[in-house]
Amino acid sequence: MTLDIADLAQLDRAHIIHPYLPGSATERVVMISGSGCRLTDSQGRGYLDATGGLWLAQVGHGRTELADVAHAQMAKLEYFTSFWEFSNERAIELATRLASLAPAPLSHVYFTSGGSEGNEAAIKMARYYHHRRGESSRTWILARSKAYHGIGYGGGSATGFPLYHEGFAPMMPHVSHLTPPWPYRTELYGDQPLSPEQVTDFLIRELEERIAEIGPGNIAAMIGEPIMGVGGMLVPPADYWPRVREVLDRHGILLIFDEVVTAYGRVGEWFAAQYFGVTPDIIVTAKGITSGYVPLGALLVGDHVAEVLLRDHGFPMGYTYNGHPVATAVATANLDLIEREGLLARATGLGAFLHAELEAQLGELPVVGEIRSVGMMLAVELVRDRATRAPLPLHPERMPHDVIRRETGVIVRDSAHSLVLSPPLIMTEAEAREVATALRGVLERTEPTGEI
Ligand code: PLP
Repeated sequence: MTLDIADLAQLDRAHIIHPYLPGSATERVVMISGSGCRLTDSQGRGYLDATGGLWLAQVGHGRTELADVAHAQMAKLEYFTSFWEFSNERAIELATRLASLAPAPLSHVYFTSGGSEGNEAAIKMARYYHHRRGESSRTWILARSKAYHGIGYGGGSATGFPLYHEGFAPMMPHVSHLTPPWPYRTELYGDQPLSPEQVTDFLIRELEERIAEIGPGNIAAMIGEPIMGVGGMLVPPADYWPRVREVLDRHGILLIFDEVVTAYGRVGEWFAAQYFGVTPDIIVTAKGITSGYVPLGALLVGDHVAEVLLRDHGFPMGYTYNGHPVATAVATANLDLIEREGLLARATGLGAFLHAELEAQLGELPVVGEIRSVGMMLAVELVRDRATRAPLPLHPERMPHDVIRRETGVIVRDSAHSLVLSPPLIMTEAEAREVATALRGVLERTEPTGEI
């Protein structure tokens, strides 16, 4: 069937259920092609992608070398299972590569097809690890408010937004949410403004109290994004993760880093674990592992955990697409590109450039509260009043990011009163400046009421 481009939007409305889009919404942006950081839609309109698709297009759009790798692998071996004794050379090649990039002792890999599956697997792994060690009482999962861990019932329950739970009850029991590290919002921690170190003190005290309440012998793991993405690019104080790790270690609780967004160069390192100098027991990754060219996820699992999972009959859980040959081949080629093009260093350098550009163009605007970033994860937090830091009211029918896209073609997202940016790591400085200018054009006429 050949579709007339003009009919695409209408057919989309008739047939596709989009996440987070009301049925009454008529607007559709039907993307047709991409190259670098640029996209073109079905009307021929051009866009500048400052969200990296959905936080993942590390090497940019339209890299034909990745298409060639997929084609060659499909022609050679498109699929065979990785269950039991079966394996394939592409999965082995990628696992070996990941083990060499990850911090020791995370040298075991469990493949999935995406981030949600990865978090389900990680939560089940943590519980199963304790079970196999004779501690079946360790079922609780510690998580944080404003966390996002995907759409499964495990990761979805660990997700810390009531909106994502509403209507899906009952969620998974034995999940407890802690306060997130968000130094800009000191009201989370009491009446007095706190230094970042005092914020950590508060959060560590809360963690210790929560562990005591639940009972350390009942807790399997704590799961957390090293930098909270959907929550609004929340960067914790530097001592937060080292101190959390120390507390969890004392109580035999595993630490799971959800690095679905932060891994593979986004923060200037292969993993945010390296940025914070903390080694979790399991790292969940997806997205940037293939830059989105094909779906894939990978858990990096500590040897001490893997040793327990692999005892006796092994880890009793698998997906059809575990270690898919085409996906793992594309991932290896994608990691080659990241390495060859020096994209880790580029994320740090370009991230600093974009941050400075945002600061220069937006820093004094009345509705801009804070600009924060690590590497190529950036956020502009929007406020009604810079003195009180009260959040900017948002009007669903005229959100700043929608107005920016419609007027300038620059694509950014809204996340909990922040505009969040995670552009391809290959963005040029001229494109970065174009992004900042587009934001300025809309934010400088945004009223404290949220009217634009
Ligand atoms: N974890 C984090 C931190 C995410 O940001 C996301 C998606 O944005 C997920 C998990 C879910 O990943 P996926 O959408 O690939 O299932």
